[in-house]
Amino acid sequence: MPSKLLDALLLAMPLSLTLESWRQHLKTQLPYPVQGANTLFIGEPTLAIVDFQHNRAEVLLPAIEWRHHDIQTAKPQRQGVVEERNGTLEQLMALVDETIAFRLKSFRECASCGTRFPPEMLGSLGGEPICRDCIKGRRVLF
Ligand SMILES: [Zn+2]
Repeated sequence: MPSKLLDALLLAMPLSLTLESWRQHLKTQLPYPVQGANTLFIGEPTLAIVDFQHNRAEVLLPAIEWRHHDIQTAKPQRQGVVEERNGTLEQLMALVDETIAFRLKSFRECASCGTRFPPEMLGSLGGEPICRDCIKGRRVLF
């Protein structure tokens, strides 16, 4: 069988009981909103992404790349993979926790309103990080 067809068939298969139980645990046990189905987006803004495939769960760090001053592309970075056959839910949770902690460290405080934002939601005003809402409010000053 061509491997592309095999991949497609495997992707269409429901998750195994183990992976489904890991997925449910992530959906219900984290102190953050979780969206998505086989790919879970944890937190708002997204703090970590967990992509469930037929025999493994991949944990990704959300990262945004600026292509132009006003166009951003999502470029999630792989943090690690937990295989169903030799991995555990504890390993997956540890990886998710690490990824969330790493992501939160990249947040910066808006110099105007003091709220913490991920880097992709902050602009710069006079060398200080500033959030979009505050930039909007100050547009008249430019
Ligand atoms: Zn602000």
